[in-house]
Amino acid sequence: LDPTSDHFSPEELDVEKKLRPLSFDDFTGQDQVLENLQVFVQAANLRSEALDHTLFHGPPGLGKTTLANILANELNVGIKVTSGPVLDKPGDLAGLLTNLDERDVLFIDEIHRLSPIVEEYLYSAMEDFKIDIMIESGPNARTVQINLNPFTLVGATTRSGLLTSPMRARFGIQSRLQYYNTELLATIIERSASILNVPISMEASIEIAGRSRGTPRIANALLRRVRDFAQIKGNGSIDIKIAKFALQALNVDAHGLDEMDNKILTTIIDKFKGGPVGITTLATAVSESAETIEEVYEPFLIQQGFIMRTPRGREVTELAYKHLGRIKGSVQGG
Ligand code: ADP
Repeated sequence: LDPTSDHFSPEELDVEKKLRPLSFDDFTGQDQVLENLQVFVQAANLRSEALDHTLFHGPPGLGKTTLANILANELNVGIKVTSGPVLDKPGDLAGLLTNLDERDVLFIDEIHRLSPIVEEYLYSAMEDFKIDIMIESGPNARTVQINLNPFTLVGATTRSGLLTSPMRARFGIQSRLQYYNTELLATIIERSASILNVPISMEASIEIAGRSRGTPRIANALLRRVRDFAQIKGNGSIDIKIAKFALQALNVDAHGLDEMDNKILTTIIDKFKGGPVGITTLATAVSESAETIEEVYEPFLIQQGFIMRTPRGREVTELAYKHLGRIKGSVQGG
């Protein structure tokens, strides 16, 4: 089980889609972000204009893609979806842009991974709704400028720090998504359970919520696995007993830390005396890319108070020793 992974089977993807909120009213949490977006959408609708380009940043699974789809629904327009790594030629982008209807949303996931040429090409599209396209080839080749329908680019990134400043400056609306607290996640789990038609007790949804790493995608993934246990080992409904049994069988720890979270903490303690340790050294020691550690693991570990970022690198806190049942200063074998 790797709920942080984006590699779902086709059936899992179908369920993911089914659980996705479709309107502002359906979306739980991120109140500040939502309140602002509602104002901007209403204003754009009132003026029959395209919404300003919008950037969402924050760790995976917090609802960036969901919000892009909600924006299109609330603007009552179509949405085209692509991602930074997929768009490798300006031509691919031109094809998408020229097919947008007035006020449509173009969603680009992982926008920090656009190639520089494609990014540059996007600038004039975003700014003036104009692009240059090359027609014919050989000696007759020339570029012509064509007008696009006004559209809204919605970009999502896990690392706003990796976005170039000219790119960032072109987004009139920028929102950072936060991890969800247990109460909000429990609400999301209850909503999902009702869509999946599985009865769940309040206690059980709070239990699952508390172990979901602050992340709706993980909450939904855990709910689906717990549902399997309820159907095979129980009577189909999820109570606290079957939830605890399933979560234990799934090896999910009490704080919702996953294997890599725990590996990062134990490595800093055992190999680097609790830190500080530089990110690249740490990355090598746990066999994970520095980028993934910085965008997926570290933000949650910092938010939960297990790790501190210091000028000399990452350090674990007292809480990390306590969580792992270690005593500070004692050396473990290995
Ligand atoms: P991201 O694009 O940030 O990686 P997604 O938008 O794909 O995250 O969200 C992952 C899943 O979590 C979605 O399928 C959706 O069902 C669920 N989800 C995310 N945010 C919320 C929310 N606020 N309320 C309910 N479900 C949510």
